[in-house]
Amino acid sequence: MTTEKTTRTICAYCGVGCGVLATALEDGAVSIKGDPEHPANFGRLCSKGLALGETLGLEQRLLHPSVNGVRTSWNEATAAVARNFSEAIRDHGPESVAFYVSGQLLTEDYYVANKMMKGFIGCANIDTNSRLCMASAVAGHNRAFGADIVPCNYSDLEHADLVVLAGSNLAWCHPVLFQRILAEREKRDLKLVVIDPRRTVTAEAADLHLALYPGSDVALFNGLLADLYRQGEIDSRFIFARTSGLAEALLSAKDCTLRAVSEATRLEAGEVQAFYDLFASKPKTVTAFSMGVNQSSAGTDKVNAIINCHLLTGRIGKTGAGPFSITGQPNAMGGREVGGMANMLAAHMDMASESHRAAVKSFWNSPAIASKPGLKAVDLFQAVRDGKIKALWIMATNPAVSMPGSSHIKEALSACPFVVVSDVTANTETAKYADVLLPAMAWGEKDGTVTNSERRISRQRRFLPPAGEAREDWRIICDVATAMGFSGFSYTSPAGIFREHCALTQVENKGTRRFDLAQLQYADDDAYEAMAPFQWGGAIPFANRKFETPDGKARFVATPAKPLAAPVNSEFDLILNTGRIRDQWHTMTRSGLSPRLFRHRAEPHVEISPADAARLGLGHASLARVKGRNGAALARVLISDAMKPGQVFQSMHWSSPFACGAAVNEAILPNVDPLSGQPELKASPVSITAFAVQWYGFGIAAVPIRPSTAYWAWQPHPGGMSFECAGTSLPDWQALIAQFCATGSETDRAVMVTGAVAAQFRYAVFRNGKLRFAFYASDQPIAVSRQWLSGQLGINEASSMEILAGRPLVLEHDQGPIVCACMNVGRNTISTFAERHPGAPLNELCEQTGAGTGCGACRPEILRMMNGKAQHLQAAE
Ligand code: SF4
Repeated sequence: MTTEKTTRTICAYCGVGCGVLATALEDGAVSIKGDPEHPANFGRLCSKGLALGETLGLEQRLLHPSVNGVRTSWNEATAAVARNFSEAIRDHGPESVAFYVSGQLLTEDYYVANKMMKGFIGCANIDTNSRLCMASAVAGHNRAFGADIVPCNYSDLEHADLVVLAGSNLAWCHPVLFQRILAEREKRDLKLVVIDPRRTVTAEAADLHLALYPGSDVALFNGLLADLYRQGEIDSRFIFARTSGLAEALLSAKDCTLRAVSEATRLEAGEVQAFYDLFASKPKTVTAFSMGVNQSSAGTDKVNAIINCHLLTGRIGKTGAGPFSITGQPNAMGGREVGGMANMLAAHMDMASESHRAAVKSFWNSPAIASKPGLKAVDLFQAVRDGKIKALWIMATNPAVSMPGSSHIKEALSACPFVVVSDVTANTETAKYADVLLPAMAWGEKDGTVTNSERRISRQRRFLPPAGEAREDWRIICDVATAMGFSGFSYTSPAGIFREHCALTQVENKGTRRFDLAQLQYADDDAYEAMAPFQWGGAIPFANRKFETPDGKARFVATPAKPLAAPVNSEFDLILNTGRIRDQWHTMTRSGLSPRLFRHRAEPHVEISPADAARLGLGHASLARVKGRNGAALARVLISDAMKPGQVFQSMHWSSPFACGAAVNEAILPNVDPLSGQPELKASPVSITAFAVQWYGFGIAAVPIRPSTAYWAWQPHPGGMSFECAGTSLPDWQALIAQFCATGSETDRAVMVTGAVAAQFRYAVFRNGKLRFAFYASDQPIAVSRQWLSGQLGINEASSMEILAGRPLVLEHDQGPIVCACMNVGRNTISTFAERHPGAPLNELCEQTGAGTGCGACRPEILRMMNGKAQHLQAAE
């Protein structure tokens, strides 16, 4: 009889918050499917969600507490944290300590962390990696609506006649939402406009792509505001009755004539006018925006410039219309709800309000309450570096990689007298600096709630036992709080914390705040366990056109356009844009465990225009150094006409556990938006030079290898691993091979060929006839079939001649680099079908090859291939 049980839970990755059905199988594996009943995804999952079951191994897990590198008991570790925080507060005051938390935490974890810092330590030095994600949206919502309320639902994207995606590569970063839009567009005339400096796969699917100059979004939307006003496309009754501040907003936009906008954005006037006309003609418009808007030194103004256009046309509080912030992390929204940021109080109450502060203090029965905002992320780490923070606790995040100017973050961490890291992963860059390491439960092991981008609260449920001695984050925090002598942290379950959180939303509310979960304060443990996904704020939060400002009116905000915080100059002449790729997540601590998520992009890459590549002498798939004022990163060159000259793009995921010198945030200046504190991660000046190597290498191995060459990047495979590498001087090949591969067994058989030039070298080792190791070196980027080779590890199918050639003799056996990660379909399979069936529609190709029939996130790339615009990282594959 089977004991397998399916658990209804939530994806651990992005802010779409897809429902997942997880089944722990008897063989120890976990089966993952989309939950057909969850209203975010109706059964769909993207490649990352589908691969969640591959990320649950214990290889990288932090399993036991340790103090100063020595394994210890929970009691001793907890006491060490409590003692050091208490002593710092005693000797230097409450502002000498800080928490840096994460949108990966559950709402219950966030709640107790915020309560401890603001109510019991009495300071607001708790900030979160969500500061890097959506702080500008929060600030923009607060300015316009008087509260941090997202006015739209995902279904609005399907009800709209026009969807504008501003600063969002939705096809890669929120794939399930993008598929919902595309599915709707197949049924009717739904127009899609994409505003993005890059021609992303999202942009390629658009009816109109505006590849504006980085940072010129405010000018574009100010121009739209002025144009709509000129054309009389305004909702006068709504503006008069329900808004304020239009005159000031129009004044700030008065110079944004079509010509001025065209100059600022470097777009053709005709393109700009086409957008303005389309916007004017579609009353049902949703403007969805994401990191390209938020991660900016003018992020808050960009948000308000967008909202201004929706207020002018009355396109808010209606089905199929509104400005829609799409969050990056699974629980960035939940963190906002409990006040888990340095400038928030709790439950949408205002830190500047004396009565709110008093009410929260009374509710918590706490000895103190933070009276002023604490340090936001960039300032917080600067204060650590300046020696002002004596004790820092980092929870579930990796700032040594993810923060801008990350070498400064490392300096700060190494200078800080006491650093605690509680996390799931043992070997993050940040964990290296910890005095105390505390193992936290991972996705699948912990219980709680998260909120997605459409205000929908869902239960994340446990279906696995905890690994090692790992504990729930909320419990770790509560144990330390109790050890510091604070009362009010004796919870026994996340349900108890959730009930208290819900009760707090009622305090000082009386209908003044939409964020009100008061009814759920009475949910017993069974009801909490069974809780179905629900939205707070109603189906359409502003349907009654009442906002949470003192006068109940929405506010237009004057948003004068500003230049980038750090423009290019003669030394740093390129604008660096950073972001996600389709199949990786953050700093890869979870997605980096899944072999299939590397098949799409196996290395850090920098995308550059053909003109800039030619000017700088960079060949496709060569290596380059991306250098900013404070640091540099290495990456593989991807020459792409999707990039405009003067701009480059680098993926933000890689760091030292996966590649050498690849952390791109090293090169980024820590400039921030003055209101939101969100860093400008999308536009930092850099220079690029060729990384002068004498040889390139590629290897595959059945056992892990950590190359120590000038450049390397590795990826896992089901049968072992593979690595790319390069060197600045020619090595003794046999000595290098000895480093990589200890042959030792009597049954090992090595084969080798050398080429006409010294850099050409190929070597393979078989054990009992099965491939164990192969290595290829050349003075050019390596031309072998990586996908085929990785499939040969541990089997004895291929001849040694084929292995040394790096590809099969029968080409049909080589499907090439994987394009569809869900169905494991490669480029060669797709291009062969396209060649044999010229003019065949996309759907037919997908049906026949299987590509694009999983999550669908690869469909835009398949289309790109069919149109002859494919991009590949390894030139010669
Ligand atoms: Fe997870 Fe993908 Fe859904 Fe985002 S879109 S929640 S990553 S399955």
